[in-house]
Amino acid sequence: MPRLKYPLAVPVKAGLKTINIFELRAETSLRDNVNDFREYADVLYSAHAPTTIGEERLNIAATDSDFRNECILVFKDYIDRCAMFPNIGQINMHFGLKNWVSETQTRGQKGDYETHIESIRTLSDYARSSGIEIVLENLNCYWALNNISDDTDFAQVNWENSNEAFGMNPEEWIEMCLDVDRDNVQLCLDTSHVSTYGHRFPEEERAGKIEAFLNRPDLITHVHWSDNYLYDVRGRNDSHLSVGKGSIPTDFHRRVKALQATILLEHFYTKEELHEELEYIERL
Ligand SMILES: [Zn+2]
Ligand SMILES: [Zn+2]
Repeated sequence: MPRLKYPLAVPVKAGLKTINIFELRAETSLRDNVNDFREYADVLYSAHAPTTIGEERLNIAATDSDFRNECILVFKDYIDRCAMFPNIGQINMHFGLKNWVSETQTRGQKGDYETHIESIRTLSDYARSSGIEIVLENLNCYWALNNISDDTDFAQVNWENSNEAFGMNPEEWIEMCLDVDRDNVQLCLDTSHVSTYGHRFPEEERAGKIEAFLNRPDLITHVHWSDNYLYDVRGRNDSHLSVGKGSIPTDFHRRVKALQATILLEHFYTKEELHEELEYIERL
């Protein structure tokens, strides 16, 4: 078993039996209603907040205050539900939307930075009374959702006016945590999302560019650890491979392993693959 400072977790979909056999912890996903996982209460230490309301993406950065307040209420309700669990100490949240124009997003298409910071502070104050820490996850750079075909060279892509959330690049992700400036708001590093960002650069620069996500390890208290394809077009998508099955540099993985953070292996395929992955992590 891996010797990490903190124990590893896997998604609840791995099943309680597997979680217990491997002596792991668990996290609910953004599609799970945490209330459905009471029998997991002993092993549930973190939970992924929802990202949608009906067909629409939640947006606590929205300049439309009615929609923004509705979204804040969704998160407060979620915090309340998590607070009923004895061990849930961290809630993972996605950032709001900077710009999202689509048929399904009828409200909250535009977001504002300062508004976003204020909304996170509101949720920080709310979560504090339950002793819950909010961790903000670096998000995907959305290639497919912006209709960029696989054979379009990265250098030809015009990202202006694309659909985009806050906190996709490492500089903004870190800056937002610092600007929120609350001790119960920290960062969640998603290493599969990192690859979708790396693909914006020439192959020879990618490994260097993604290192910027590790510039402030002191702010990272949670990790969504997966592998992805940093050097072929599949890595523009959020592949969530088992660690060791992709091409994120080994050194990057080593530095993730060394973080003082709780870690979720954010995928589950088979018990055999999990076993192999744990052995790979042990050897890192
Ligand atoms: Zn997420
Ligand atoms: Zn994630």
